[in-house]
Formats: sequence, structure tokens, C-alpha cells
Amino acid sequence: MEQSRSQQLFEQAQRVIPGGVNSPVRSFRAVEGTPPFIARGAGARVWDVDGNEYIDYLGSWGPLALGHAHPAVVEAVQRAASDGTSFGAPVEQEVELAEMICAALPSVDLVRLVNSGTEACMTALRLARAYTGRDKIVKFAGNYHGHADGLLVAAGSGALTHGVPTSAGVPEAYAAETLIATFNDIGSVEGLFDAWPDDIAAVIVEPVAGNMGVVPPADGFLEGLRNVTEANGALLIFDEVITGFRVGYGGAQTLYGVTPDITTMGKIIGGGLPVGAYGGREEVMQQVAPLGPMYQAGTLSGNPLAVAAGVATLTELQKPGVYEQLEATAVRLTDGVSAAFARAEVPSTINRVASMFTGFFNAGPVSALAEVEQSDTAAYGRYMHALLDRGVYIAPSQFEAGFVSIAHTDADIDRTVEVVGEALASLG
Ligand SMILES: *Cc1c(COP(=O)(O)O)cnc(C)c1O
Repeated sequence: MEQSRSQQLFEQAQRVIPGGVNSPVRSFRAVEGTPPFIARGAGARVWDVDGNEYIDYLGSWGPLALGHAHPAVVEAVQRAASDGTSFGAPVEQEVELAEMICAALPSVDLVRLVNSGTEACMTALRLARAYTGRDKIVKFAGNYHGHADGLLVAAGSGALTHGVPTSAGVPEAYAAETLIATFNDIGSVEGLFDAWPDDIAAVIVEPVAGNMGVVPPADGFLEGLRNVTEANGALLIFDEVITGFRVGYGGAQTLYGVTPDITTMGKIIGGGLPVGAYGGREEVMQQVAPLGPMYQAGTLSGNPLAVAAGVATLTELQKPGVYEQLEATAVRLTDGVSAAFARAEVPSTINRVASMFTGFFNAGPVSALAEVEQSDTAAYGRYMHALLDRGVYIAPSQFEAGFVSIAHTDADIDRTVEVVGEALASLG
């Protein structure tokens, strides 16, 4: 059989790039097959190099709340590029993005822009350690906070998908400073504070877990984290790299009414370009160089193209009705897909918070990592390919979130639900 262009490119890629991908989450190893190489995107759709069209629910793993190639973002990036791509000196646009972030998140007085969510989370830990003078941190099994050493312990996302939740190459002495708790189990966190009352600098959490598939916080869980950290002199870090400007303009902290000490961001604030950020109240952020002794820097931080895309994206998201539309679209999708699974008599549980969701091959409930891990990943893989063959692109892993954008129309959703029905029927 003649090879597709994607297959040719994937063979080439594997000769020069480990596994043929520049991020393991793009690999199809967990579901088998060859990832389509994407040629372009517009709105809710992407086209691969062989000309196949897909309705896209990856959304670049979260950033594309406006869909692909939104005119406002394209224009902002083009305009910025024509004035020069990087200066290593302050530019006006980075102030604008920082002001928008501080205005959106009441817990953030000062914010430092970086280039990725990984950088943001890595630095947030350093900041918490600098502020408290303590070394240990608490993270939750199945939460993912980027690939910094101390955070690749019991990690979610690709690390979970590919069976390496705790990465090789992380010094044991370093991993020992990362204590692991159970998401949605406040007792597990209290136990760690009992064992290490004066040693824990911070608890870092995805306020809505998105990297073990979507798992919403249980009632009182985030409040419990706020209380236990405060009582023990530790900081609470919300990793809002996915949820920031996604579950609402004010992120998960506004949705759930719980105020963290430090917030990390990424994805949407770059509108599809590389941006991350960490921020918090003034007293904490005063540790950051050049104000204070905690060092963090970046040649391309606050890059004019990236912040222009971010400002354009947040400007669109501020318009009235946008989050209502995102939510209504996601509800239409998850209701339709649930009904299709019920008709096909395939056990499933769909978790959704605003416009992020995961459909688990699992009778449910799915409210903890242990339950997530009971999902039928083989069935998910067959389903994912059946959708892909019919023009719908979802994550090549059971343990990831899906996203809708403002570009997804009711017709796109209805077509998707139809495809889900056909895919389930084809699997028998
Ligand atoms: C994606 C993600 C990160 C890492 O961001 P990168 O830009 O990929 O480095 C961190 N935390 C969460 C919650 C994420 O989803």
C-alpha cells in the first residue's frame, strides 16, 4: 500500500527526533498508528498534509479558546512581527498583557511573564521556597505541572500515558523533596503536614485536574487546601495553566472562590504562541529578582509576538457572552456524546467543567486517579482511531482533556455526535 504523506514524514521525523515528536503527548504510541502531520487550521478545523479534514478537539492542548487562526490573533502577530521579533528590552505590549492578567485575577498583584507553563511552575516552586525558607513541596499524583525535575514525580499527562509518571534522571535527593498526595483527598494532605509540619513550602495543585483526564475538585477540597496550607505556614499554588481564562475569565480561583498565594498560567494567555506566567500577591512576588533574591530570567520572555497574541486572545474573551457560548457548546457536545454512548450501551462517564471535558471508558464515577486508571484504555484507542478515520480529532490518550472553542458551531457539534454514533457502531 502506498504510504501517506504523514507516514513518510513520520518515518523521516523518527530518524532525527526522538519518537518522531517534539512532545510525547503527540505520539500515538498509546493508541498505535501514525499521527497525522497538520498542514493548517482554521476555526474549529485542521487539515493534515494528505488533505484530510478534522473537527479539532485538541485545541493545541488548551490554548485555542478562539479556534485556529482567529483573525484578531493573526493580525496582531503579523503587525508585531513587522516591527521586529525580539529586543531583549521592555515593550509596551508586555505591560498590557500583565495588566490584563492582574485585572482578571484578584490574587495576582504582580506577574512575571515566561515562555512556558513548565517554566512558570518550576519558578513558582522556587519562589515558594524562597519565601518560606522551606524545601519540601506537595503535589498530587496524576497532576501535571510541566517537566521540571521535582515535578516529574507521579506526574500526569504524557508521563501517565506512556507509563513513566516518575521520570528517569531526576536525582533521588531532589525527588525526595516532592511529597505526593491524593487528589480530592484532603486527609492525604493533612497527613503530610502532620509528618512534616515545618518543612513544606507549598502545595501545588491543578484546581480542576486536566492531565489525568478532567476530574473536578470535590466539594470543599480546594477550601480544605487553603485552610491546611494557611494553618501550617505553607503557600498554596494554583496551577491554572489550563484553567486560567478557560473555566471562566477569572480562572478556577474565581469559579470556586478560593484564593491561592501563587498562580501559574500558560496556554490561553499566549493564544497559541509560547507564553507562561506566574504571579501572586505583592509580598510574595517581591522575592523575584531584581526586587528580591529569587532569580529567574528569560531571553525571550515577554516576547512581542507572543504577548500580542495573548492580548488579542484575552481581548476577544472579554467580550460579553463568550464563556456562556463556550459552555453551551461543550454541554451540547457532552450531552450528545453521552446519549450516543448510552444508545450503544458502552459504559462511559463524561466529566466536564465549563469548556474542558473528558469522556472516560469507565462506568464511573471518575473522581480520583485510582478510578481514572480503571478506564478501558484499549477501547479508548480503538474509538479514537474510529473518530479520526471519520474526521474528528481527539487526544491520542484517555488521560487528557478535550476542549471546544468559540469557533465550534452547533453544526460542528451535531456532526461530531453523529460521528461518535457511527464510530461506536463500527466497533460493535
Ligand atoms: C500544559 C501544562 C503545563 C506545562 O505547560 P507547558 O507550556 O507545556 O510547559 C503545566 N501545568 C498544567 C496544568 C498544564 O496543563
